[in-house]
Amino acid sequence: MPQADAGLHADPVTTLMTATRPIRFSQDRNAAAHPLAARLRREVDGEVLFDPASRGRYATDASIYQIEPVGVVVPRTMEAAVTALTIAAEAGVPVLPRGAALPSAVRPSARRKRHGLWFPVDVSTAAQATLGGMAGNNSCGSRSIAYGYMVHRVAAIEACLADGTRGRFGPVAEISEPAIRAIARSAAALWERERDEIARRLPKVARHVAGYNLDCLAPEGQNLAKLLVGSEGTLAWFERLTLDLAEIPAHKALGVAHFPRFWDAMDAAQHIVKLGPCAVELVDRTMIDLSRAIPAFASTIDRVREGRARRNPSRGIRR
Ligand SMILES: Cc1cc2nc3c(=O)[nH]c(=O)nc-3n(C[C@H](O)[C@H](O)[C@H](O)COP(=O)(O)OP(=O)(O)OC[C@H]3O[C@@H](n4cnc5c(N)ncnc54)[C@H](O)[C@@H]3O)c2cc1C
Repeated sequence: MPQADAGLHADPVTTLMTATRPIRFSQDRNAAAHPLAARLRREVDGEVLFDPASRGRYATDASIYQIEPVGVVVPRTMEAAVTALTIAAEAGVPVLPRGAALPSAVRPSARRKRHGLWFPVDVSTAAQATLGGMAGNNSCGSRSIAYGYMVHRVAAIEACLADGTRGRFGPVAEISEPAIRAIARSAAALWERERDEIARRLPKVARHVAGYNLDCLAPEGQNLAKLLVGSEGTLAWFERLTLDLAEIPAHKALGVAHFPRFWDAMDAAQHIVKLGPCAVELVDRTMIDLSRAIPAFASTIDRVREGRARRNPSRGIRR
């Protein structure tokens, strides 16, 4: 499969540090003078943001959860990022990498498309998401039934560990760094010891999120990158990914089926996937009406959906 190296360091990488235990820094007007901030400012080439507004801004990822960081570092170079990680490790402060602040570090597709290739994990936040964040979340997109998730498309990861170890995590047979070979050996031993437990308790779901890809510890074709994918920044900081690209299909077709009821559309999906589509999307009346109200989408909606949906409580939706 065609591969591409996607350096994540084309732009500064945002690093967010969380406290070892909850601290309400909003009340702490002296946080900007935190000793960690002083050291980071002295030694790191980048922005060091410990003020309440910045910590508030980085406390959220657009979900309902908010965890306020001790501070934020936006390194300008890869070396600066590694220096920040080292300083945080010495101070005993956990680090959480962040991606989406760096839109331009993402989308390799535009460049690859010239070569007839593209990166097919089309996460719906693609306009903002970064490859590092997508790998961290084991992201997937609407075409995952044909192209898989990040865990299927990341072939290797050059990463930095909390103890400063840097190297390439990929197929075990190709690992050269002794420290990473040692990790591969202990991962294999962990698999030997826990394989029954993993088989018994690891959920049999297509996509593992909120948990490590423990099934990827199996020695057959063992690839440490697969273990790092989905680790949500807890195992390593990814510097560079080697991705499996896909060929752009020569022909594309879109089929639109209208259903009188939501239930009928959901029921039809099991039959539609047998036709081998690369994506199946359900667009309900709420989405249609909302999209029609947005001028940029209105003409597209009108091309595939005529008339205006009206609700009939006894028969669902009809035109
Ligand atoms: C409206 C909305 C729609 C969404 N739709 C989808 C969807 O269709 N499919 C989907 O899979 N997800 C979806 N998500 C979740 C999320 O936005 C995506 O998974 C996205 O890919 C995350 O990328 P990011 O750059 O924003 O990463 P972030 O949110 O910054 O990070 C995601 C995780 O990766 C880690 N991380 C970031 N960079 C690195 C790095 N360099 N090294 C190591 N770890 C790193 C972070 O610590 C974090 O745990 C959606 C979220 C929202 C709010």
